[in-house]
Amino acid sequence: MTAALDFLASKPGLLIGGEFAAAQDGRTFDTINPSTGQVLSTVPRAGQADVDSAVRAARAAFDPGSPWRRTSPAERGRLLHRIGDLILEHAEELATLEALDSGKVITVARSSDVVLAANMFHYMAGWATKVEGSTIPFSMSAPDEHLAYTEMEPVGVVAGIIPWNFPLVMASWKVAPALATGCAVILKPAEETPLSALRLGQLVTEAGLPPGVVNVLTGYGHEAGAALAEHPGVNKVAFTGSTEVGKRVLGAARGNLKRVTLELGGKSPNIVFDDADLDIAIPFAAQGIFFHQGQCCNAGSRLFVHRKVFDEVVAGIAEIAAGYRIGDALDEESTMGPLVSAGHLERVLGYLESGQSEGATAVTGGDRGAGPGYFLEPTILTGTTPEMKVVREEIFGPVVAAIPFDDPDELVTAANNTPYGLAAGIFTRDLAKAHRTARALQAGTVWINTYGAFDAAIPFGGFKESGWGREMGRAVLDNYLETKSVVIRLAP
Ligand code: NAD
Repeated sequence: MTAALDFLASKPGLLIGGEFAAAQDGRTFDTINPSTGQVLSTVPRAGQADVDSAVRAARAAFDPGSPWRRTSPAERGRLLHRIGDLILEHAEELATLEALDSGKVITVARSSDVVLAANMFHYMAGWATKVEGSTIPFSMSAPDEHLAYTEMEPVGVVAGIIPWNFPLVMASWKVAPALATGCAVILKPAEETPLSALRLGQLVTEAGLPPGVVNVLTGYGHEAGAALAEHPGVNKVAFTGSTEVGKRVLGAARGNLKRVTLELGGKSPNIVFDDADLDIAIPFAAQGIFFHQGQCCNAGSRLFVHRKVFDEVVAGIAEIAAGYRIGDALDEESTMGPLVSAGHLERVLGYLESGQSEGATAVTGGDRGAGPGYFLEPTILTGTTPEMKVVREEIFGPVVAAIPFDDPDELVTAANNTPYGLAAGIFTRDLAKAHRTARALQAGTVWINTYGAFDAAIPFGGFKESGWGREMGRAVLDNYLETKSVVIRLAP
């Protein structure tokens, strides 16, 4: 706690070119503790001039002949390892900052967010020495007189624009692969949760990265975010956030045809068949939607349950929902914290109102929690129809629509009836049914008899309007690399 409070009191600056500084025009904004509604700290509000400086610093760091470009892959791997170690060494401080700033309950921030972020750096450390091209047989003419090969080159300066739900994890998903592939990066955290990114910027500097390789700009999406997305000096945008803003980023990136990857929203189906082990399915279905107050891109927000076990499953989840201890995210006893902001709470309440006015019933929950913070009871809606907004749109709160089904084929059609395609869950004891259903679902990740199991080695990303590209695993490297083909004529 002391370390986190010291960090807050230090009024951390933007990280540009290895220096920590205020915004050039001196502007700042407040970051709020969603558990209390009180101002936590004031951070710099980066504008166009700061974006220009950060891009200049990153470009200089990426220049051929710069210390970073001369850093060997093995040394890049060691630096990534060091950053992962530093995250673990500062685990308690980072977990506290995450709880204060985002409302993530401290026990989860400690056991999940910090660990996942460190894992990502440690995992990516291994890839730094394994980015390889290939030799390719040449067939067009005189095969013996040609040698063809590919080299993989870093894409250049990357802007990583991230959301507020997993601030440190999202930062690691952008920064670690950028460093493993030899890129330079400018990280723009969400305005709701700037703190852990600023602290990560300090740790990255402490790890010994050359100046300008990682830059951190706190600021608003329509200012710093938009300026990065359209900046001609940026080669690639790695964006995670809402589908709506993702489409805007795509438009802004058009000017210099930046490479764009998008990790966007979801409305993921979680399916419980009648042969499922309900002792497993019920807790995972509850966790699948209520984890971090439902503010997860992969939340299992449409729960399809076979009619035979529907009442039992809904009753089981309702019991778990009633057992959550809603409270201040810093309280070790809290199992559910607040939503991230007053505005977001209003938005989620609006969805509840809309669902209920259209005829859905809240079996449990549906009300604001007590206190000045932005608390909301975990809520199960039944009696929904496919046309309702609560079934079609991403709510991003602790609200699940429980939907009974009878026929497995109709179930797959209903589960895929969404513009999103991020994740899905299946609960059954029948292996063949599990694989058949997994194959039929349009989703980037399918969990079977579990939900929300992440690993830095497993690619994650969306089908359809849930995005472009994959985070993590070997697959993420492609986002940060250009392929160069070299063909040599071997003159006799
Ligand atoms: P958001 O789209 O409002 O903001 C995301 C980021 O974009 C923030 O840093 C914001 O400042 C910035 N931004 C806003 N307007 C911008 C603009 N015009 N140009 C450039 N940047 C801009 O999303 P949010 O509310 O912070 O996060 C919630 C959303 O993120 C949900 O839809 C959720 O599903 C999604 N998400 C997806 C994943 C995934 O991996 N697929 C992971 C986490 C969150």
